[in-house]
Amino acid sequence: MRARNFLEWPFFEPDHRELAEHLDAWAESHIAHRAHAEDRASVDGACRVLVRELGLAGWTRYSAPGAAQGAVLSISREHPPTISRTQPSNSREHPSAVAQFDVRALTLIRETLAWYDGLADFAFAMQGLGSGAISLAGSAELQGRYLPRVAAGQAIAAFALSEPQAGSDVAAIQCSARLDGDSYVLDGEKTWISNGGIADFYCVFARTSPQEFRPDGSVTARGISAFVVDADTPGFDIKSRIDVIAPHPLATLSFSLCRVPVTHRLGAEGEGFKLAMRTLDIFRTSVAGAALGFAQRALDESLKHALSRPMFGKTLADLQLTQAALADMATEIDAARLQTYRAAWLRDRGGLVTKEVAMAKMAATESAQRAIDHAVQLFGGRGVVHGEIPERLYRDIRALRIYEGATEVQKLIIARELLNEARNK
Ligand SMILES: Cc1cc2nc3c(=O)[nH]c(=O)nc-3n(C[C@H](O)[C@H](O)[C@H](O)COP(=O)(O)OP(=O)(O)OC[C@H]3O[C@@H](n4cnc5c(N)ncnc54)[C@H](O)[C@@H]3O)c2cc1C
Repeated sequence: MRARNFLEWPFFEPDHRELAEHLDAWAESHIAHRAHAEDRASVDGACRVLVRELGLAGWTRYSAPGAAQGAVLSISREHPPTISRTQPSNSREHPSAVAQFDVRALTLIRETLAWYDGLADFAFAMQGLGSGAISLAGSAELQGRYLPRVAAGQAIAAFALSEPQAGSDVAAIQCSARLDGDSYVLDGEKTWISNGGIADFYCVFARTSPQEFRPDGSVTARGISAFVVDADTPGFDIKSRIDVIAPHPLATLSFSLCRVPVTHRLGAEGEGFKLAMRTLDIFRTSVAGAALGFAQRALDESLKHALSRPMFGKTLADLQLTQAALADMATEIDAARLQTYRAAWLRDRGGLVTKEVAMAKMAATESAQRAIDHAVQLFGGRGVVHGEIPERLYRDIRALRIYEGATEVQKLIIARELLNEARNK
């Protein structure tokens, strides 16, 4: 059982504490002792099973709060507690409810799952990121069609924004969506798409008007719209699969005369960039949560190992250099956790918390990498052996410093916010 003293912090409600207890017990009995083969077919299969299990157990209900519109609070012994709030939509065109995510719950769930199993964390995270744009801006019809299946783990979701020439510079996307009668026709490519190859549907961001350039040559954020594309839509294809150091389903997608009904557009035409940013803004804090889970696991494994590894007539734990490493790990994790749950709490209260979210994502992912590196070092040769926990964590953490805004991008966001605050003083 993981230590969870931090749940006493004032950032949490009693429901969050109960959620963490339930999830920890579930993870201990369902995923703690599961090893995954790393070939593509096995990873795909394991992800499908995990999504279904997370759905059956009720955890992915947090990924798609719009699935339970109007629900207030339900707690039972069999099912984890859920808090689902909805707000009336401002949009006349899409009279759907705008679901409110519980960012503290999402972050707690990712921290817990990541502690046990990186693939379980991935499977959970993508249900939310992949359907987030539907929860935020989908019509009532789209929300009704997709979100209940996402929440139940019956449909696998994906978020398709990045392109070969547009990663950090995401406004530069080129994939196009041309209006033709009652359809949009999509043409182009997306890459680095998690769940690519196993997803049932993709939230795709594409250009509905040509790129506009600023005087410095950069592309503005105008002219991008979002669409739901079912995996079996003619003209949609998996162009190639991508294998990464911590294997999970990942692919390059191609769209060739891919016809999507106008009713599958998410939000107003031209508002897609804002929608992508709103979606990322919700889920970025949960990336910090996953990093905390990996880092905490590294510290827990290091403590166990240091106490049991005989060395120089005593144990590794008796050596002061070991103690220094453990102290650094614990202190950095604690600081990152405070920043992460502060950001989640602020986000749940509403308002602009861009700087705090960016700080949390950067602090948690960067410090987790350092903590895990310490763990590998403390394990000595065992630390780099395939199948050992520090080796797995070392691979699991790396991409978190890159996706959903790389560390360099977070620094630019923090500095921009700081300078704006200073200018407006
Ligand atoms: C495992 C994984 C899963 C992913 N899943 C998804 C997904 O599901 N959906 C999706 O749409 N995308 C996904 N991505 C894509 C991810 O969001 C991009 O990889 C990320 O935004 C970086 O873009 P890039 O890879 O093109 O790198 P680039 O944008 O080329 O960046 C290269 C380097 O330049 C740095 N940089 C950026 N801006 C500046 C600057 N102003 N000054 C200095 N340096 C800068 C970056 O930080 C980075 O270090 C995933 C990526 C990975 C690795």
